[in-house]
Amino acid sequence: MRFSAVIVAAGSGSRVGGPAKQWRLLAGKPVARWSLEALLAAGAQSVVVVISPQDREIAERAFDGLRKWSLAEGGAERHASVRAGLLALQAPQNVLIHDAARPFVAASHVEQLLAALEGAEAALPALPVADTLKREQDGGLTTVPRDGLWRAQTPQAFRYDALMAAFAVWPESEVPTDDAAVIERAGGRVARVPGDPMLMKLTYAEDFPMAERLAGAARIVRTGMGLDAHRFGPGDAVWLCGVEIAHTAALVGHSDADAGLHALTDAILGAIGEGDIGDHFPPSDPQWKGASSDRFLVHALELLKAKGGRLLNVDVTLVCERPKIKPHRQAMRERLAQLLELPLDRVSVKATTTEGMGYTGREEGLMAQAIASVETPA
Ligand code: MG
Repeated sequence: MRFSAVIVAAGSGSRVGGPAKQWRLLAGKPVARWSLEALLAAGAQSVVVVISPQDREIAERAFDGLRKWSLAEGGAERHASVRAGLLALQAPQNVLIHDAARPFVAASHVEQLLAALEGAEAALPALPVADTLKREQDGGLTTVPRDGLWRAQTPQAFRYDALMAAFAVWPESEVPTDDAAVIERAGGRVARVPGDPMLMKLTYAEDFPMAERLAGAARIVRTGMGLDAHRFGPGDAVWLCGVEIAHTAALVGHSDADAGLHALTDAILGAIGEGDIGDHFPPSDPQWKGASSDRFLVHALELLKAKGGRLLNVDVTLVCERPKIKPHRQAMRERLAQLLELPLDRVSVKATTTEGMGYTGREEGLMAQAIASVETPA
């Protein structure tokens, strides 16, 4: 189901001290970036981040390199910020509203919320209240029954039109404490999906050490593989892993026929579920004729980054009798490391023969295999 999102990041975060909590670093990355990356990784079509006007520069720096986001300036109260964000969206059907200070959204949360929206105007994750509740009264404590009490979290999901209509009749003098309350007041249906302790809101200074420990669990490692082969034809050089090697033949293909880069591009695309190289650069398209395959690889890397991911390591095996790869391995690793922005020890190029057997053995063509490991939001 398609959705857009509003992230509310306009708070001053005075309870934490120092910079507003949504801009504080968590595992080396601003908290608001965690939230944005997570919603993009879950498939958001576009995300409006609502900020305080003075935070524009810090926000642009925090979200550098990501795609599909824009900024809107918020109001004094949270609900005014939410409305500013909703108005900045281009009339989506479904919208998620999320607090920037809840950095650990997973795709599974989003899927559950959108599914629940099939039968309701709004959906929210909520946890039962587990602790006994006490009210301080007249110098003593009394116990408050907790039956039927829930802790509402975000993101909350809405049918856009229903939420806009509900906001239109919300009384000016009152402040809703969350967005589902606006639907409740208007008589709409609010569905509940299971909440998750991982959706906790970073509120107090002491929340941060715990969040640092959880940060590792909020990302997953994925692996993709790629395989490519090209035929030898007339020529005097081949391109392999971004390096030109003199040879008694050339590799034949629509682009520069760099099977190493093609296999590696497919490995990265595979790791993030983005199809294969032919989907992005169709061989039927004349603009890729003779193209350097560097750009295919860089495109795959950019798609990965746009999902909030990063490359961990790559490993390529070239299968051929000739040209001899070993004298060029180091140059290939260096070129790949440069293209992929990786340290050298995370880039491997290996070579083997098939001992004269099959099409690589007969030197009809050359084959490359690659594997890539990436890390993305869960
Ligand atoms: Mg190819």
